[in-house]
Amino acid sequence: VLLITMGVFWLLSILMSIWMSRLTMRPILRSWRRQTEFVGNAAHELRTPLTIIQNKLEFLLTRPNDKIIDQAESIAVANSESQRLQKLTQDLLALARSDSNTVQTNFELTDMATFMQRTVEPYTEIAASQGKTLVLDPVTPFQATLDQALVHQLLNILIDNALKYSPQGQPITLSAKLTSRKWQLTVADQGIGIKRADRQRIFDRFYRVDSSRSRQTGGNGLGLSIAHWIVNLHHGTIVVKENQPQGSQFITTLPVNPVGLAGHHEKLTAK
Ligand code: ADP
Repeated sequence: VLLITMGVFWLLSILMSIWMSRLTMRPILRSWRRQTEFVGNAAHELRTPLTIIQNKLEFLLTRPNDKIIDQAESIAVANSESQRLQKLTQDLLALARSDSNTVQTNFELTDMATFMQRTVEPYTEIAASQGKTLVLDPVTPFQATLDQALVHQLLNILIDNALKYSPQGQPITLSAKLTSRKWQLTVADQGIGIKRADRQRIFDRFYRVDSSRSRQTGGNGLGLSIAHWIVNLHHGTIVVKENQPQGSQFITTLPVNPVGLAGHHEKLTAK
């Protein structure tokens, strides 16, 4: 009886350890799978512009006697594809840094009315050059602690998308408001909108609702995942809702003091 009991215990302990190792292996396997998928997607995205540039250059090499003006179109395509490559590599680098938690952040107490006006102003001109209007609602003065460069990048992504996915003549509205111990940043457009089923997935890396349209507009499907990461670093949330009468609104809610700063500049390493 003793031998049988010991045998049963031994068997049980082996089964337990197999079960436990499966539990601990699961997140490692998941993260490995995600990483492999990411590298595969990145390689795929890099290949398309590289192939286009290569084709254009090879074509130009077959016509060495042509004047530049005669081949301006090919050169312009190669140039815009190289710009796309540059943007893609910058975005990939930002995401790689976010994965390795090696981003040096610089949280500082910020006067939000001034920050918003300064950040949004250049985009007003860009919008006007595209026949669109970009309006920042008057910001009632308040202060918030944030990494200015990162929040600038967040605004850049949201405004850039609002412009990309809005037809000419449609207004884009921005607002920054204090709500008790949080502040809310809203970027609203009256563009093509986002179906309910896609609203969660657009924050996934490389996800694009319509990749052919996104390719025309120069998108790579990484912007919103970077936006999501910036918001996470600030311990905030970002959601997308339907705008009225049409379009989307991205609502970012951030704590006024996400890192408990006493109001001075300080260097912190993001976790
Ligand atoms: P992309 O570089 O393709 O714009 P993002 O990660 O910034 O990548 O956005 C992911 C997808 O979400 C886009 O391809 C687009 O389909 C959708 N999207 C983002 N912002 C908007 C918007 N303001 N209006 C409509 N669709 C949007």
